[in-house]
Amino acid sequence: MEKEKRSVYKNVQMQFKKAADLMKLDPDIQKILSSTQNEIVVHFPVIMDDGSLEMFTGYRVQHNNVLGPYKGGLRFHPAVEIEEVRALATWMTWKSAIANIPFGGAKGGIHIDPDKYTTDELQRITRRFTFALGNNIGPEYDIPAPDVNTNAQIMAWILDTYLATMPPQDRQRSIHVVTGKPIEAGGSIGRGKATGQGVVFTIEEWSKDNDFDLGSATYFVQGFGNVGSWAARLLKPHGSKLIAVEDISGAIANPEGIDADELTEYVEKNRVIAGYPKAEAIDHETFLKTKADIFIPSALENQITAETAPMLDVKLVAEGANGPTDPDGDKVLQEKGIAVIPDILCNAGGVIVSYFEWLQNKRSEYWDIEEVDEKLYKKIVDAYKRVRDTAKEFDTDWRTAAYIVALAHLEVVYKERGIFP
Ligand code: NAD
Repeated sequence: MEKEKRSVYKNVQMQFKKAADLMKLDPDIQKILSSTQNEIVVHFPVIMDDGSLEMFTGYRVQHNNVLGPYKGGLRFHPAVEIEEVRALATWMTWKSAIANIPFGGAKGGIHIDPDKYTTDELQRITRRFTFALGNNIGPEYDIPAPDVNTNAQIMAWILDTYLATMPPQDRQRSIHVVTGKPIEAGGSIGRGKATGQGVVFTIEEWSKDNDFDLGSATYFVQGFGNVGSWAARLLKPHGSKLIAVEDISGAIANPEGIDADELTEYVEKNRVIAGYPKAEAIDHETFLKTKADIFIPSALENQITAETAPMLDVKLVAEGANGPTDPDGDKVLQEKGIAVIPDILCNAGGVIVSYFEWLQNKRSEYWDIEEVDEKLYKKIVDAYKRVRDTAKEFDTDWRTAAYIVALAHLEVVYKERGIFP
């Protein structure tokens, strides 16, 4: 029988407490940051293609906005519920604080299996959800972006719906209400690959620090969507070899290497990796036991646990996903001497380039890819160094160090501003 998973929000609270105790975070600020600020739950009706009506439940949780507008993705998935969204919103606050960008943390989504709906139905569901959220989102207030099962097209529908509900004279100056838009609709070049690019920039830095040759490295990836497929493709030019991949349809392996670009083309046509002709199908346990240098979890939470962490035979876990490792899994990785680039650092490339998109929209500018990549590199490598140096200073693991970087930043701002009234 599958052991009941601990709620990811519990994981966040455990991670938070460990860091707060170690850095001796002010107890009042601990109280503030252990709670979310606003939690919006909307139930809304949508007419299906066959004329029937279905009710949906959507969420937007705003954890903190002391550093800037709430910011975070929208997920369309059957596992979306309030505790998960709270956890994801909280991680967004830490992520922006570590990356030093002027955003707070939020997350949202719809409890839905999007595979069961047609494109027209998904469009109506997205638009009606946006309408239900109303002014709980806004370009200077709370800015959604893509996450699991949402993409640039869905952002374009949100944009269009939001603008349609604004007074005409306000529409043009509100296109930064969402990021991760299609480029033609005001998106930033480089946003599509940004999270995977950030993952690869942090892996590069770790390799330099550890005299590790990426040219002869092997890696495997869980999740082959936006984050996983871009991370896989962007590691390829270093000469590293992708030897196994898993997605919702199962896992595949090829010790001779899987071409990440070819696999991406295959997934664009077939939606999933199952049936890819140049690799063997393997089971989940064999996938986790893959002997490689780097594992890049890029799917969902709670994948590396007390049960699964002992199976990993790698030097580095680079967390493309949010929350892939729970606190028990973390302990095992530490005992095994496996290095971890934690999610709130490793996958921050997405929110960093979302910030660039937001800035470009506000300034009516279009940057080129060189400018975006160069600025992303600087931001994420600075964040990486802050976390690495804090881990040394506090003699602690990198996840706790990443929290300390975030919490120290937020603590200063709260102390400066004080608590109203
Ligand atoms: P996506 O929808 O593009 O891809 C998700 C992938 O995970 C798919 O390949 C899917 O088949 C796979 N998957 C789903 N369930 C699985 C399972 N049980 N086992 C194995 N694979 C499974 O989503 P994404 O945007 O790439 O997001 C992936 C992760 O990265 C999430 O944790 C998300 O929160 C995080 N993240 C995304 C961004 C972003 O910019 N999109 C930024 C930061 C973090």
